[in-house]
Amino acid sequence: MTKPSPNPGLLKISPYVQGQSQLDGIQNPIKLSSNESPLGPSPAAIKAYMEAANTLYRYPDGSQTALREALAERFDLDADKVICGNGSDELIQMLIRAYVARGDEVILSEYAFAMCRIHALAQGAEVITAPEPELVPNVDQILAKVSDKTRLVAIATPNNPAGRYLPASELQRLHDNLPGDIILLVDSAYADYVEKEDYDPGQTLAETTDNVVMTRTFSKLYGLSALRIGWAYASAEIIGMMQRIRTPFNTNAPAMAAACAAVLDRDHENKVRQANNKWLALMSERLTEMGLEVVPSVANFILMRFPETDSHNAGAAWKFLLSRGIIPRPVGAGGPENCLRITIGLDHENRAVLDALQDFMTGV
Ligand SMILES: *Cc1c(COP(=O)(O)O)cnc(C)c1O
Repeated sequence: MTKPSPNPGLLKISPYVQGQSQLDGIQNPIKLSSNESPLGPSPAAIKAYMEAANTLYRYPDGSQTALREALAERFDLDADKVICGNGSDELIQMLIRAYVARGDEVILSEYAFAMCRIHALAQGAEVITAPEPELVPNVDQILAKVSDKTRLVAIATPNNPAGRYLPASELQRLHDNLPGDIILLVDSAYADYVEKEDYDPGQTLAETTDNVVMTRTFSKLYGLSALRIGWAYASAEIIGMMQRIRTPFNTNAPAMAAACAAVLDRDHENKVRQANNKWLALMSERLTEMGLEVVPSVANFILMRFPETDSHNAGAAWKFLLSRGIIPRPVGAGGPENCLRITIGLDHENRAVLDALQDFMTGV
């Protein structure tokens, strides 16, 4: 019998697995599996979202003008070189559709965004992984994989699940050593948390070169994961190509209204960053004292490695935390071994995590 066959690349794609959100028999579990912002969005964003309910019968502004201008104001960008998407997810899809075809090669740094793989495979491209032995994008590993067929290189900085960032000088070195016809995608979903002098989310290169694309999101620090809204910054030429394949109303009106308000609320932004970074430092210190190997994160989550013993490995810790009503993110096959990733939560949630892991490690 004959039947339709999909594009060959699709058969290599394994479905995305979302962070667990429920626990049998537990009313309000502490969900720390998806790097969502525990403080939620700016109150101004919620207000703007509610107000947008009054005009739901209207199509959204297909040119995304208000949001692009708000982003330009907040981040000192050229609004003409900004494009917004239904999550950074969609932006990456547009970019890959625009520049990667069957038979091309795409190099993904090991802990780049999982979505890059899906979209590249769907295009029929070959995906080549550049290892991150230090749990941070490794410029030499990436450069060693470049071939005549390479069309795009993707990194995440800070990356996920490690939460480490590539210093600006290394990002520059990566760019300087890549042929100019290869796109460098810098996924900076967690940029808004980083307070390091030598960090650049890719904005400088996106501003000044022809082949660097920075993607950002409202899903993390801005607390708008449900609305699916992200943005990209790149040369006018690349943005123009993405605009050609963008569906006219890809970002919806309530999402854009909320995002506009969110990005201009600097007080909320600072409050969220401060709360996160205070707990990030505190938890990293406490977890290290307990004997866990903590990766030095600059994002809103912590990756920790457990002892190798059956009683205290990551699998055992996973079960123990669930029994306490806490949901971390297991790092599955292909990720760093024997680790769990846990999002920074509210004060009482973080304390619950520390108490639980203290009990786990001391065997109570
Ligand atoms: C969460 C996350 C994003 C954001 O994706 P959206 O589609 O904008 O929600 C992007 N990259 C990485 C590495 C992430 O962890």
